[in-house]
This record gives sequence, structure tokens and C-alpha cells, in this order.
Amino acid sequence: MSAAHPERVIDGWAEEELRTLQARGLRRELEPLSTPQGPVVQLGGETLINFSSNDYLGLAGDPRLGQAATAALSRHGVGTGASRLVVGDTLAHRALEAKLAAFMGAESALLFNAGYAANVGVLSALAGKEDVLFSDALNHASLIDGCRLSRAKTVVYPHRDVDALERLLRAHRGRRQMVCTDAVFSMDGDRAPLRELVALCRQHGAALVVDEAHAIGVLGDRGAGLCEALGVSGEVDLRVGTLGKALGAFGAFVAGSRAVTELLVHRARSLVFSTALPAAVCEAARTGLGLVEDDPSLRAALWRNIRHFAEGLQKLGHPATAQSAIFAVILGEPRAAVEASRFLRTRGLLVKAIRPPTVPEGTSRLRFGLSAAHTPEHIERALDALRELARNA
Ligand SMILES: *Cc1c(COP(=O)(O)O)cnc(C)c1O
Repeated sequence: MSAAHPERVIDGWAEEELRTLQARGLRRELEPLSTPQGPVVQLGGETLINFSSNDYLGLAGDPRLGQAATAALSRHGVGTGASRLVVGDTLAHRALEAKLAAFMGAESALLFNAGYAANVGVLSALAGKEDVLFSDALNHASLIDGCRLSRAKTVVYPHRDVDALERLLRAHRGRRQMVCTDAVFSMDGDRAPLRELVALCRQHGAALVVDEAHAIGVLGDRGAGLCEALGVSGEVDLRVGTLGKALGAFGAFVAGSRAVTELLVHRARSLVFSTALPAAVCEAARTGLGLVEDDPSLRAALWRNIRHFAEGLQKLGHPATAQSAIFAVILGEPRAAVEASRFLRTRGLLVKAIRPPTVPEGTSRLRFGLSAAHTPEHIERALDALRELARNA
């Protein structure tokens, strides 16, 4: 920001936009951790209880995932050299896909390099100019971008509003109609009304795509997500899941029919035109998935923490319910959220402020992500700090 007369035009643009962000309280910073991901992390010399991660089961720093990756590194090396269709496909990709398909109770699963790439790839592969996409107003940015990239007509329906969606489905017809929604909404932690959406889609001949990013490993009897919890896995056309959140690794997948995943291999440009995931990442994810399948005590510990925190928030007067591992404490303006985050940091807590464009204007917030690895004391520390914050307000 120092050069008053930038020599390259692009620097001038950047500096001007950064000043605007700064003035609006929207300037952000990257902060490198000096420890693995976990319930307690070190950041710039501070030791902080970490409530900003999506590592819901505490697997991201688990040595068993690291060992699986290390073993795969010595077998496969680091790089995959090309996209999967060219020469980047390995037995590690196949083994993970088979395990994911079985876990999700789907005919087939297909890996993507990230949840972002999966959503962009899926929507742009399955919808085009003649089609209509219906998207919940609070869907994740990757679904929004997928809608845009598809060039389909996109109709945004009010958050979780099934009646409004029904009217819109009647009003906007196309060659194909497809509804897409987060299962658990990433910044509020509430759940999509999937049973109603399934019924509505069936009635209107629309397809339903559900993004289980924050529900995999968290919801359902076996941790397979909200569709499993609601008993609609077989009725949802396509489910997207990430490997980088509860499963502790990196990457993503879609679960659906063989026909759809095979078509995606041809048409999803984020898969066709991108180098394959390293085999070591696949092996770490497969290990994380195995732990989710074999150790229900992880999910039980997470849910103890979720209920503990929800009850504490209710006592503080927050309208919190135990729906997922995500809790939003809404503060309104960006600066209020940043100040609250700074205050919590003085109390040893890492709770990042979430501001536009991640959330709508006027709803800047503290977003708490809970983990199975948090102790009851960690949860109490957070509640104590929030109590103090409310007193000071
Ligand atoms: C995090 C997230 C994604 C993106 O997944 P990555 O693997 O991090 O790219 C997609 N959808 C939702 C709802 C998410 O929260």
C-alpha cells in the first residue's frame, strides 16, 4: 500500500480496492498457524482454543491420517502428473471412491479436487442455457458460482422457504429443472428441509443436489450426513461431500448413480482440466473415513459438545439450537464482529469474524465451529468469554 505512484496499472487498481475494503471494515488477513490443526493451536506466538475450524471430529491433525499419507507418499510419490483422464488416476483414488460409495449408500462416488471444484463442476456439467437452477439464498459460494458458470437461468429462493420454492418451480420452466442446497448451511448451522424438498422436486420433475459439506461425519446414524439422518439418501439425485472438513483430509466427492458420475467424468470441467489429487491425500481421506465408520465415539463426543454449547448459549439469551457443529453469534456490522473477535482473542479464544461477502450485509458474526476434540473446559471458556462480552456491550 506504500507506492503513491504505482508503475503497473494493476497495482493502482489493487491499492484503490484495498483502501475501500479497509474503509468498510472488510480488510482481511492471512494468519499462519505454527501447529497442526486441532482444538488448541498456536498463532503468532499465542496459544488459542480454536473455534474457527471445520475439523469437526479432530481428525485433521490425527497421526493416523499422517501415517497413511506418509506410507502412500513412499509408494506413489507426491505428484500425480496429470488429470485423472490422462495419467493421474491411481488405485488409491479407486479405493477411496469405492469406500465412499459404500459409506454413502450410493451406486457410485467420484472424487473432485475440492468441494469448490465439485460444485462448480457438477452444476455446469448438468445444467445449461435452456435449464433452470433453483438455489437457496444462503447457499455456499461454490454452488452460487456453479449456477453462474452453468449459464442456466438461476432462481434464488428465500432461505429454506419451501412454499416460495414451489411457486417459483411453477413459474420458471426449462428443459431441465434442478434444485441445489446446502444440507447444513455453512455460516448459520441450520438444516435444509430435505424431506419437503424431495417431495417438491418429485412433484415437479426437478433434480435435487445436496451439498453435505458440514453434515458428513456429523449427522446421520453412521455419519453419512443429513440425507441419512432424514432417511432420504435414496431419493436425492446427487450428494456432494468434502474430505477436508470432518474427514480430516482434503478434496471432495459426489455420490450418485453410475450414469451421473460417468457423465461427470466427461463433462465436469473442474475434473477434466485439473491435475488429480495426490494419492497420499486419498489415502489420508480413506483413513479418516474408516475412523468415522469404525469409531462412533467421535461423533458422540462432538454431539456432547454441541449440546453443551447450545444450552450455554440459550442461558445467555441466544436463540441457539443443537442442529449442527456450527453456531453463529450475529453482531451486525463488520466492525462489531471484528471487535468481538479481538476481545475473545484476549481471552485465549480463536473465533474469526465472518463478514460480507461470506454472509449478507448487516449479519456479520462470530462463527463457532465445534470439534469432538474440544474438552468441556474449552466449551466453558467460550461461554464465559461470551458472557463477559455481553456484559461489556
Ligand atoms: C467448505 C464448503 C465447500 C467447499 O469445499 P472445499 O473442499 O473446502 O473446497 C463447499 N460447500 C460448502 C457448503 C462448504 O462449506
